[in-house]
Amino acid sequence: MGVFEELAKKDHEQLVFCQDQDSGLKAIIAVHDTTLGPALGGSRMWPYDNEEQALRDVMRLSRGMTYKSAAAGLNLGGGKAVIIANPKTDKSEALFRSYGRFVQGLAGRYITAEDVGTTVRDMEWVRMETDFVTGISRALGGSGDPSPVTALGCYEGIKASLKWHTGNESLEGKKVAVQGVGAVGYHLVQHLTRDGAKVFATDIDQENLRRVTTDFRSVEIVAPEKIYAVDCDVFAPCALGAVINDETITMLKCGIIAGSANNQLGDEDKHSVALEKKGILYAPDYVINAGGLINVANELEGYNRERAVQQAASIYNIITSIYQIARDEKITTLRAANALAERRIQRLGRIKGTYAGLPVQKRARGII
Ligand code: NAD
Repeated sequence: MGVFEELAKKDHEQLVFCQDQDSGLKAIIAVHDTTLGPALGGSRMWPYDNEEQALRDVMRLSRGMTYKSAAAGLNLGGGKAVIIANPKTDKSEALFRSYGRFVQGLAGRYITAEDVGTTVRDMEWVRMETDFVTGISRALGGSGDPSPVTALGCYEGIKASLKWHTGNESLEGKKVAVQGVGAVGYHLVQHLTRDGAKVFATDIDQENLRRVTTDFRSVEIVAPEKIYAVDCDVFAPCALGAVINDETITMLKCGIIAGSANNQLGDEDKHSVALEKKGILYAPDYVINAGGLINVANELEGYNRERAVQQAASIYNIITSIYQIARDEKITTLRAANALAERRIQRLGRIKGTYAGLPVQKRARGII
């Protein structure tokens, strides 16, 4: 495999291979696109079977971050890192601090955060060696748990979808099936029940189910395999990826799919088209769940909860713009989301061609 050929395929800017034999660090940082700003994305720790698998993952994930930040209206590019190690057995202070020094060496082109296999504590080690890390605990001035903000963005996306699909955004009396009542699902159910929605919830974790039914008494429990067939206005996947597939699409009786889970579609092209054919409105996952990213991105300017919440609420307008593009250009909502992101990058990339004198030191605070 030619490395430059691989980079060129999806327009990646930079790959950084990081090694420290003493601490056992083996990491790859991928910077996909920095047109809009520094590349932000988490550090995934995973025991990949081989280097090629790790490389493919980091390249795919970093590109996804470019689209996610661009669609969310953030002044950030897309990046991601993978640390090739087992998160259960290989973590140490030295490993994360060594990794932090490599991140620092990129001088802000890449900003890291926690991801699958890494935690807030790990990022605190990384932070000892670099300024370019987010996802820090509230106690240290960071943004803390992102899930309430993710849930808020998701709730706004659900209202925008209802408005588009039915002409009325009110949740009063609407039926919503929530798959997974963990960190995000719990807070989402709180918003939905407060607005008078009838919520059907499922989970495989009995403790999480008990918590949600104790706190929100009107919630009705459904068996995990029955959630797809609930006759409802909105199906909100908030658990796993690939839950929208050949098998589940035939069962669905919802008008809208709008939930926080990442990579909801088993096959992006095939299943977004299948949903459209079935008349189901799909809120692109990476847009409706951007509240978590918006939350950590806010740390870059000094974390302010009110500002993060306000920006996450703008997911309502972003989702509406995506539906408008999809209708006007007769494309799926997923393609429309990608188009919205690509056009923003193109437009803003062009304005950067104008010489503006000395560089602006303050980061622009724009949001669409
Ligand atoms: P979580 O682990 O706290 O909650 C997930 C819940 O889903 C758990 O209660 C789990 O028991 C349940 N679950 C797992 N398999 C299930 C199944 N087969 N059927 C029903 N329930 C099942 O995770 P979370 O932080 O709430 O995130 C939920 C989803 O949203 C994930 O896909 C995550 O990647 C995505 N997401 C989360 C955030 C965030 O801020 N936490 C941000 C963006 C995207």
